[in-house]
Amino acid sequence: MSRVDVDVAIVGGGIIGLAHALAAARRGLSVAVFERGPRSTGASLRNFGTIWPIGQPPGEMLQLALRSRQLWIELLESAAIGYHSTGSLHVAYRSDEVEVAREFAERAPDLGYDCVWLDADAVAERSAAAVRRGLCGGLWSPGELTVDPREVLSGLPRYLVERHGVAMHFGCAVTSIELPIIRTGGSTFHADTAIVCSGDDFETLYPGAFQSTGVTRCKLQMMRTVPQPSGWRLGPVLASGLTFQHYASFRVCDSLETLRRRIAEETPELNRWGIHVLISQTAAGEITIGDSHEYGSEVDIFDKREVDDLITRSAQSFANIADWSIAQRWHGVYAKHPDKPFVSFSPTERVRVVTGLGGAGMTLSLGLAESTMRELAL
Ligand SMILES: Cc1cc2nc3c(=O)[nH]c(=O)nc-3n(C[C@H](O)[C@H](O)[C@H](O)COP(=O)(O)OP(=O)(O)OC[C@H]3O[C@@H](n4cnc5c(N)ncnc54)[C@H](O)[C@@H]3O)c2cc1C
Repeated sequence: MSRVDVDVAIVGGGIIGLAHALAAARRGLSVAVFERGPRSTGASLRNFGTIWPIGQPPGEMLQLALRSRQLWIELLESAAIGYHSTGSLHVAYRSDEVEVAREFAERAPDLGYDCVWLDADAVAERSAAAVRRGLCGGLWSPGELTVDPREVLSGLPRYLVERHGVAMHFGCAVTSIELPIIRTGGSTFHADTAIVCSGDDFETLYPGAFQSTGVTRCKLQMMRTVPQPSGWRLGPVLASGLTFQHYASFRVCDSLETLRRRIAEETPELNRWGIHVLISQTAAGEITIGDSHEYGSEVDIFDKREVDDLITRSAQSFANIADWSIAQRWHGVYAKHPDKPFVSFSPTERVRVVTGLGGAGMTLSLGLAESTMRELAL
Protein backbone atom coordinates (compact mmCIF):
# COMPACT_ATOMS: atom_id res chain seq x y z
CA MET A 1 0.00 0.00 0.00
CA SER A 2 1.35 3.41 -0.97
CA ARG A 3 2.07 6.09 1.56
CA VAL A 4 -0.84 8.55 1.95
CA ASP A 5 0.26 12.20 1.84
CA VAL A 6 -3.20 13.66 2.35
CA ASP A 7 -6.71 12.48 2.98
CA VAL A 8 -8.20 14.57 0.20
CA ALA A 9 -6.66 15.92 -3.01
CA ILE A 10 -8.56 18.71 -4.73
CA VAL A 11 -7.93 19.37 -8.42
CA GLY A 12 -8.64 23.00 -9.36
CA GLY A 13 -8.10 26.20 -7.41
CA GLY A 14 -11.30 27.97 -8.51
CA ILE A 15 -14.09 28.65 -6.04
CA ILE A 16 -15.51 25.12 -6.31
CA GLY A 17 -12.13 23.54 -5.54
CA LEU A 18 -11.45 25.99 -2.70
CA ALA A 19 -14.93 25.43 -1.24
CA HIS A 20 -14.35 21.68 -1.21
CA ALA A 21 -10.91 22.17 0.33
CA LEU A 22 -12.49 24.25 3.09
CA ALA A 23 -15.29 21.76 3.73
CA ALA A 24 -12.83 18.85 3.93
CA ALA A 25 -10.39 20.74 6.15
CA ARG A 26 -13.22 21.75 8.49
CA ARG A 27 -13.90 18.05 8.96
CA GLY A 28 -10.36 17.65 10.24
CA LEU A 29 -9.05 16.00 7.06
CA SER A 30 -5.65 16.78 5.59
CA VAL A 31 -6.06 18.48 2.22
CA ALA A 32 -3.93 19.45 -0.79
CA VAL A 33 -5.15 21.66 -3.65
CA PHE A 34 -3.59 21.38 -7.12
CA GLU A 35 -4.05 24.36 -9.45
CA ARG A 36 -2.38 24.24 -12.84
CA GLY A 37 -1.99 28.03 -13.13
CA PRO A 38 0.46 30.15 -11.12
CA ARG A 39 -2.82 31.42 -9.68
CA SER A 40 -6.44 30.72 -10.37
CA THR A 41 -7.67 32.70 -13.39
CA GLY A 42 -10.79 30.80 -14.44
CA ALA A 43 -14.46 31.74 -14.11
CA SER A 44 -14.08 32.32 -10.38
CA LEU A 45 -11.86 35.34 -10.94
CA ARG A 46 -13.94 36.74 -13.78
CA ASN A 47 -17.39 37.00 -12.29
CA PHE A 48 -19.53 39.71 -10.65
CA GLY A 49 -18.87 38.42 -7.17
CA THR A 50 -22.53 38.23 -6.32
CA ILE A 51 -23.94 35.62 -3.97
CA TRP A 52 -27.37 35.54 -5.58
CA PRO A 53 -29.97 33.29 -3.90
CA ILE A 54 -32.80 35.11 -5.68
CA GLY A 55 -31.73 33.45 -8.95
CA GLN A 56 -32.21 29.92 -7.66
CA PRO A 57 -35.46 28.05 -8.27
CA PRO A 58 -37.63 27.37 -5.21
CA GLY A 59 -37.07 24.17 -3.27
CA GLU A 60 -33.81 22.29 -3.02
CA MET A 61 -31.67 24.76 -4.99
CA LEU A 62 -32.94 27.82 -3.12
CA GLN A 63 -32.30 26.05 0.19
CA LEU A 64 -28.78 25.17 -0.97
CA ALA A 65 -28.15 28.79 -1.97
CA LEU A 66 -29.40 30.09 1.39
CA ARG A 67 -27.23 27.62 3.28
CA SER A 68 -24.30 28.62 1.08
CA ARG A 69 -24.92 32.30 1.79
CA GLN A 70 -24.78 31.61 5.53
CA LEU A 71 -21.48 29.75 5.06
CA TRP A 72 -20.13 32.63 2.94
CA ILE A 73 -20.81 35.15 5.70
CA GLU A 74 -19.12 32.94 8.32
CA LEU A 75 -16.14 32.40 6.02
CA LEU A 76 -15.72 36.03 4.93
CA GLU A 77 -15.83 37.21 8.53
CA SER A 78 -13.48 34.53 9.77
CA ALA A 79 -11.01 35.11 6.91
CA ALA A 80 -11.35 38.93 7.09
CA ILE A 81 -12.27 39.13 3.41
CA GLY A 82 -14.47 42.15 2.65
CA TYR A 83 -18.08 41.89 1.48
CA HIS A 84 -21.15 44.05 1.16
CA SER A 85 -24.70 43.03 2.07
CA THR A 86 -25.96 44.94 -0.92
CA GLY A 87 -29.20 43.10 -1.65
CA SER A 88 -30.56 43.25 -5.18
CA LEU A 89 -33.03 45.45 -7.00
CA HIS A 90 -34.74 44.39 -10.24
CA VAL A 91 -36.04 47.67 -11.63
CA ALA A 92 -39.23 47.74 -13.74
CA TYR A 93 -40.05 50.24 -16.49
CA ARG A 94 -42.55 48.31 -18.60
CA SER A 95 -45.94 46.93 -17.63
CA ASP A 96 -44.84 43.32 -18.28
CA GLU A 97 -41.82 43.83 -15.98
CA VAL A 98 -44.13 45.19 -13.29
CA GLU A 99 -46.39 42.15 -13.69
CA VAL A 100 -43.52 39.67 -13.21
CA ALA A 101 -42.01 41.59 -10.29
CA ARG A 102 -45.37 41.87 -8.52
CA GLU A 103 -46.36 38.26 -9.16
CA PHE A 104 -42.99 37.06 -7.86
CA ALA A 105 -43.18 39.30 -4.79
CA GLU A 106 -46.66 37.96 -4.04
CA ARG A 107 -45.62 34.32 -4.26
CA ALA A 108 -42.21 34.86 -2.66
CA PRO A 109 -43.05 34.24 1.01
CA ASP A 110 -44.66 30.85 0.31
CA LEU A 111 -41.74 29.84 -1.89
CA GLY A 112 -39.09 30.80 0.67
CA TYR A 113 -37.79 34.07 -0.87
CA ASP A 114 -37.43 37.23 1.15
CA CYS A 115 -38.38 40.00 -1.27
CA VAL A 116 -41.00 42.71 -1.79
CA TRP A 117 -42.38 44.96 -4.49
CA LEU A 118 -41.41 48.64 -4.07
CA ASP A 119 -43.07 51.56 -5.82
CA ALA A 120 -40.96 54.06 -7.77
CA ASP A 121 -40.38 56.39 -4.81
CA ALA A 122 -39.29 53.53 -2.59
CA VAL A 123 -36.90 52.28 -5.31
CA ALA A 124 -35.43 55.76 -5.63
CA GLU A 125 -34.88 55.83 -1.87
CA ARG A 126 -32.97 52.52 -2.01
CA SER A 127 -30.96 53.32 -5.12
CA ALA A 128 -29.78 56.71 -6.30
CA ALA A 129 -28.46 54.92 -9.39
CA ALA A 130 -31.80 53.63 -10.71
CA VAL A 131 -32.91 55.81 -13.64
CA ARG A 132 -35.98 57.72 -12.40
CA ARG A 133 -37.57 58.53 -15.77
CA GLY A 134 -40.29 55.98 -16.53
CA LEU A 135 -39.54 53.97 -13.38
CA CYS A 136 -42.61 52.02 -12.22
CA GLY A 137 -41.06 50.25 -9.23
CA GLY A 138 -38.91 47.25 -8.51
CA LEU A 139 -38.38 43.93 -6.79
CA TRP A 140 -36.22 44.42 -3.69
CA SER A 141 -34.45 41.49 -2.11
CA PRO A 142 -32.14 42.11 0.87
CA GLY A 143 -30.35 38.73 0.72
CA GLU A 144 -27.75 39.13 -2.00
CA LEU A 145 -24.09 39.70 -1.09
CA THR A 146 -21.27 41.21 -3.13
CA VAL A 147 -17.64 40.15 -2.81
CA ASP A 148 -14.66 41.05 -4.96
CA PRO A 149 -13.61 37.80 -6.68
CA ARG A 150 -10.03 39.08 -6.85
CA GLU A 151 -9.95 39.39 -3.07
CA VAL A 152 -11.62 36.01 -2.54
CA LEU A 153 -9.19 34.20 -4.81
CA SER A 154 -6.18 35.68 -3.07
CA GLY A 155 -7.55 35.68 0.48
CA LEU A 156 -9.17 32.25 0.58
CA PRO A 157 -6.09 30.19 -0.39
CA ARG A 158 -4.11 32.16 2.21
CA TYR A 159 -6.77 31.43 4.84
CA LEU A 160 -6.83 27.73 3.93
CA VAL A 161 -3.08 27.50 4.42
CA GLU A 162 -2.86 29.58 7.59
CA ARG A 163 -6.03 28.48 9.39
CA HIS A 164 -6.45 24.92 8.17
CA GLY A 165 -2.97 23.80 7.10
CA VAL A 166 -4.13 23.08 3.53
CA ALA A 167 -1.25 22.54 1.09
CA MET A 168 -1.73 24.76 -1.98
CA HIS A 169 0.20 23.62 -5.07
CA PHE A 170 0.06 26.28 -7.78
CA GLY A 171 1.57 25.73 -11.22
CA CYS A 172 0.78 22.07 -10.75
CA ALA A 173 -1.48 20.44 -13.36
CA VAL A 174 -2.86 17.03 -12.42
CA THR A 175 -2.37 14.76 -15.41
CA SER A 176 -3.74 11.50 -14.03
CA ILE A 177 -5.46 10.05 -10.99
CA GLU A 178 -5.10 6.38 -10.10
CA LEU A 179 -5.72 6.45 -6.39
CA PRO A 180 -3.85 6.63 -4.20
CA ILE A 181 -1.52 8.08 -6.85
CA ILE A 182 -2.00 11.60 -8.19
CA ARG A 183 0.40 12.55 -11.01
CA THR A 184 1.29 16.16 -11.71
CA GLY A 185 3.75 16.40 -14.55
CA GLY A 186 7.02 15.59 -12.86
CA SER A 187 5.75 14.70 -9.37
CA THR A 188 3.66 12.08 -7.65
CA PHE A 189 1.41 12.61 -4.65
CA HIS A 190 -0.77 10.25 -2.67
CA ALA A 191 -4.33 10.75 -1.48
CA ASP A 192 -7.20 8.67 -0.16
CA THR A 193 -9.89 10.62 -2.01
CA ALA A 194 -9.77 13.03 -4.97
CA ILE A 195 -12.30 15.74 -5.76
CA VAL A 196 -11.93 17.14 -9.27
CA CYS A 197 -13.19 20.71 -9.68
CA SER A 198 -11.64 21.45 -13.04
CA GLY A 199 -14.15 24.05 -14.21
CA ASP A 200 -14.50 23.96 -17.98
CA ASP A 201 -11.51 21.68 -18.60
CA PHE A 202 -13.24 18.51 -19.80
CA GLU A 203 -10.27 17.18 -21.73
CA THR A 204 -7.44 16.55 -19.27
CA LEU A 205 -9.04 14.21 -16.73
CA TYR A 206 -11.87 11.76 -17.52
CA PRO A 207 -12.64 13.14 -21.01
CA GLY A 208 -14.92 10.20 -21.90
CA ALA A 209 -16.93 10.53 -18.70
CA PHE A 210 -17.27 14.28 -19.23
CA GLN A 211 -18.50 13.76 -22.76
CA SER A 212 -21.26 11.43 -21.66
CA THR A 213 -22.59 14.00 -19.13
CA GLY A 214 -23.59 16.45 -21.89
CA VAL A 215 -21.91 19.36 -20.06
CA THR A 216 -20.88 22.27 -22.30
CA ARG A 217 -19.30 25.75 -22.08
CA CYS A 218 -20.67 29.26 -21.94
CA LYS A 219 -18.70 32.41 -22.77
CA LEU A 220 -19.67 35.70 -21.08
CA GLN A 221 -18.40 39.21 -21.89
CA MET A 222 -17.83 41.62 -19.02
CA MET A 223 -16.64 45.19 -18.36
CA ARG A 224 -15.47 47.19 -15.36
CA THR A 225 -15.44 50.97 -15.03
CA VAL A 226 -12.81 53.11 -13.42
CA PRO A 227 -13.41 53.64 -9.68
CA GLN A 228 -16.38 55.95 -9.17
CA PRO A 229 -15.80 59.30 -7.43
CA SER A 230 -15.14 58.83 -3.74
CA GLY A 231 -18.33 58.49 -1.73
CA TRP A 232 -20.41 57.41 -4.74
CA ARG A 233 -21.92 54.04 -3.93
CA LEU A 234 -24.22 51.99 -6.14
CA GLY A 235 -26.09 50.43 -3.24
CA PRO A 236 -28.05 47.31 -4.24
CA VAL A 237 -26.87 45.31 -7.24
CA LEU A 238 -29.11 46.44 -10.09
CA ALA A 239 -30.86 44.17 -12.57
CA SER A 240 -33.62 44.88 -15.07
CA GLY A 241 -36.53 43.09 -16.73
CA LEU A 242 -34.07 41.16 -18.92
CA THR A 243 -32.91 39.29 -15.84
CA PHE A 244 -36.41 37.93 -15.21
CA GLN A 245 -36.06 35.77 -18.29
CA HIS A 246 -32.58 34.58 -17.31
CA TYR A 247 -32.87 33.03 -13.84
CA ALA A 248 -34.88 29.87 -13.20
CA SER A 249 -36.49 31.38 -10.08
CA PHE A 250 -38.82 33.60 -12.12
CA ARG A 251 -40.20 30.70 -14.14
CA VAL A 252 -42.84 30.27 -11.44
CA CYS A 253 -44.49 33.47 -12.78
CA ASP A 254 -47.34 33.02 -15.29
CA SER A 255 -46.73 36.61 -16.39
CA LEU A 256 -43.20 35.79 -17.59
CA GLU A 257 -44.38 34.61 -21.02
CA THR A 258 -45.67 38.07 -22.02
CA LEU A 259 -42.36 39.66 -21.04
CA ARG A 260 -40.43 37.01 -22.99
CA ARG A 261 -42.52 37.57 -26.11
CA ARG A 262 -42.09 41.33 -25.97
CA ILE A 263 -38.30 41.11 -25.54
CA ALA A 264 -38.05 38.60 -28.40
CA GLU A 265 -40.03 40.92 -30.70
CA GLU A 266 -38.52 44.25 -29.63
CA THR A 267 -34.87 43.37 -29.05
CA PRO A 268 -33.98 40.04 -30.69
CA GLU A 269 -30.34 41.19 -30.77
CA LEU A 270 -30.22 40.94 -26.97
CA ASN A 271 -31.56 37.38 -27.04
CA ARG A 272 -29.18 36.48 -29.84
CA TRP A 273 -26.23 36.99 -27.50
CA GLY A 274 -28.08 35.87 -24.34
CA ILE A 275 -27.73 39.32 -22.81
CA HIS A 276 -29.16 40.22 -19.43
CA VAL A 277 -27.57 43.01 -17.49
CA LEU A 278 -26.36 43.13 -13.89
CA ILE A 279 -24.52 46.06 -12.35
CA SER A 280 -22.50 45.59 -9.17
CA GLN A 281 -19.81 47.59 -7.40
CA THR A 282 -16.50 46.50 -5.95
CA ALA A 283 -15.16 47.74 -2.63
CA ALA A 284 -12.66 49.84 -4.62
CA GLY A 285 -15.58 51.67 -6.23
CA GLU A 286 -15.42 50.18 -9.75
CA ILE A 287 -18.68 49.17 -11.39
CA THR A 288 -18.83 45.68 -12.91
CA ILE A 289 -21.20 45.41 -15.88
CA GLY A 290 -22.23 42.32 -17.83
CA ASP A 291 -23.11 39.98 -19.38
CA SER A 292 -23.75 37.89 -22.48
CA HIS A 293 -24.12 34.11 -22.91
CA GLU A 294 -22.71 32.19 -25.87
CA TYR A 295 -23.12 28.44 -25.42
CA GLY A 296 -21.07 25.70 -27.06
CA SER A 297 -17.94 23.67 -26.49
CA GLU A 298 -15.90 25.86 -28.86
CA VAL A 299 -15.26 29.28 -27.34
CA ASP A 300 -14.63 32.29 -29.62
CA ILE A 301 -11.39 33.78 -28.31
CA PHE A 302 -12.27 37.18 -29.81
CA ASP A 303 -14.68 39.44 -27.97
CA LYS A 304 -17.43 41.24 -29.86
CA ARG A 305 -17.68 45.01 -29.77
CA GLU A 306 -21.37 44.66 -30.67
CA VAL A 307 -22.02 42.65 -27.51
CA ASP A 308 -20.28 45.21 -25.27
CA ASP A 309 -22.26 48.00 -26.95
CA LEU A 310 -25.57 46.20 -26.42
CA ILE A 311 -24.74 45.54 -22.76
CA THR A 312 -23.72 49.18 -22.24
CA ARG A 313 -26.85 50.52 -23.94
CA SER A 314 -29.06 48.29 -21.86
CA ALA A 315 -27.20 49.22 -18.64
CA GLN A 316 -27.55 52.93 -19.39
CA SER A 317 -31.30 52.54 -19.89
CA PHE A 318 -31.80 51.78 -16.19
CA ALA A 319 -28.66 52.88 -14.30
CA ASN A 320 -27.13 56.29 -13.73
CA ILE A 321 -23.45 55.80 -13.00
CA ALA A 322 -21.25 58.76 -12.14
CA ASP A 323 -18.46 57.67 -14.54
CA TRP A 324 -19.05 55.18 -17.35
CA SER A 325 -15.39 55.12 -18.48
CA ILE A 326 -14.47 51.49 -19.01
CA ALA A 327 -11.12 50.46 -17.53
CA GLN A 328 -11.21 46.71 -18.20
CA ARG A 329 -12.92 44.30 -20.59
CA TRP A 330 -12.69 40.52 -20.43
CA HIS A 331 -14.61 37.36 -20.95
CA GLY A 332 -15.13 34.36 -18.72
CA VAL A 333 -16.06 30.79 -19.54
CA TYR A 334 -17.97 28.44 -17.29
CA ALA A 335 -19.11 24.85 -17.50
CA LYS A 336 -22.85 24.39 -17.76
CA HIS A 337 -25.22 21.51 -18.19
CA PRO A 338 -28.25 22.21 -20.41
CA ASP A 339 -30.74 20.85 -17.84
CA LYS A 340 -29.00 20.20 -14.52
CA PRO A 341 -27.94 22.83 -11.95
CA PHE A 342 -24.51 21.17 -11.66
CA VAL A 343 -22.62 18.04 -12.65
CA SER A 344 -21.37 15.63 -9.99
CA PHE A 345 -20.23 12.09 -10.77
CA SER A 346 -17.74 9.47 -9.64
CA PRO A 347 -15.66 8.17 -12.56
CA THR A 348 -13.92 5.68 -10.25
CA GLU A 349 -14.08 4.77 -6.60
CA ARG A 350 -13.18 7.60 -4.20
CA VAL A 351 -12.97 10.13 -7.02
CA ARG A 352 -15.71 12.74 -7.35
CA VAL A 353 -15.97 15.30 -10.15
CA VAL A 354 -17.91 18.49 -9.34
CA THR A 355 -18.41 21.23 -11.93
CA GLY A 356 -20.99 22.75 -14.28
CA LEU A 357 -22.55 25.23 -11.88
CA GLY A 358 -23.07 27.73 -14.69
CA GLY A 359 -23.75 31.26 -13.49
CA ALA A 360 -24.31 30.19 -9.89
CA GLY A 361 -20.91 28.82 -8.88
CA MET A 362 -20.09 31.59 -6.43
CA THR A 363 -23.58 31.40 -4.94
CA LEU A 364 -23.73 27.64 -4.48
CA SER A 365 -20.07 26.72 -3.93
CA LEU A 366 -19.88 26.50 -0.14
CA GLY A 367 -23.24 24.79 0.29
CA LEU A 368 -22.54 22.31 -2.48
CA ALA A 369 -19.13 21.44 -1.01
CA GLU A 370 -20.82 20.63 2.28
CA SER A 371 -23.24 18.26 0.57
CA THR A 372 -20.42 16.59 -1.37
CA MET A 373 -18.74 15.83 1.96
CA ARG A 374 -21.96 14.26 3.22
CA GLU A 375 -22.40 12.19 0.06
CA LEU A 376 -18.81 10.94 0.25
CA ALA A 377 -19.23 10.29 3.98
CA LEU A 378 -16.11 12.32 4.71
C1 LIG B 1 -18.54 36.48 -16.31
C2 LIG B 1 -19.07 35.61 -15.23
C3 LIG B 1 -19.90 36.13 -14.25
C4 LIG B 1 -20.39 35.30 -13.24
N1 LIG B 1 -21.07 35.86 -12.20
C5 LIG B 1 -21.42 35.08 -11.15
C6 LIG B 1 -22.02 35.64 -10.01
O1 LIG B 1 -22.15 36.86 -9.87
N2 LIG B 1 -22.46 34.82 -9.02
C7 LIG B 1 -22.30 33.47 -9.09
O2 LIG B 1 -22.75 32.76 -8.21
N3 LIG B 1 -21.62 32.91 -10.12
C8 LIG B 1 -21.19 33.68 -11.14
N4 LIG B 1 -20.54 33.14 -12.21
C9 LIG B 1 -20.29 31.69 -12.20
C10 LIG B 1 -19.08 31.31 -11.40
O3 LIG B 1 -18.04 32.21 -11.61
C11 LIG B 1 -18.66 29.88 -11.80
O4 LIG B 1 -19.75 28.99 -11.68
C12 LIG B 1 -17.56 29.38 -10.87
O5 LIG B 1 -16.52 30.33 -10.80
C13 LIG B 1 -17.00 28.06 -11.34
O6 LIG B 1 -15.95 27.72 -10.48
P1 LIG B 1 -14.99 26.51 -10.77
O7 LIG B 1 -14.09 26.40 -9.62
O8 LIG B 1 -15.82 25.32 -11.18
O9 LIG B 1 -14.23 26.91 -12.13
P2 LIG B 1 -12.95 27.81 -12.35
O10 LIG B 1 -12.99 29.07 -11.57
O11 LIG B 1 -12.83 27.95 -13.83
O12 LIG B 1 -11.77 26.97 -11.75
C14 LIG B 1 -11.36 25.75 -12.28
C15 LIG B 1 -9.86 25.66 -12.03
O13 LIG B 1 -9.41 24.35 -12.26
C16 LIG B 1 -8.09 24.43 -12.77
N5 LIG B 1 -7.81 23.14 -13.43
C17 LIG B 1 -8.51 22.56 -14.44
N6 LIG B 1 -7.97 21.35 -14.74
C18 LIG B 1 -6.92 21.18 -13.91
C19 LIG B 1 -5.96 20.12 -13.73
N7 LIG B 1 -6.01 19.02 -14.46
N8 LIG B 1 -5.00 20.28 -12.80
C20 LIG B 1 -4.94 21.40 -12.02
N9 LIG B 1 -5.82 22.43 -12.16
C21 LIG B 1 -6.79 22.32 -13.08
C22 LIG B 1 -8.16 25.61 -13.72
O14 LIG B 1 -6.87 26.14 -13.98
C23 LIG B 1 -9.06 26.57 -12.96
O15 LIG B 1 -8.32 27.50 -12.17
C24 LIG B 1 -20.05 33.93 -13.24
C25 LIG B 1 -19.21 33.41 -14.21
C26 LIG B 1 -18.71 34.24 -15.19
C27 LIG B 1 -17.76 33.66 -16.21
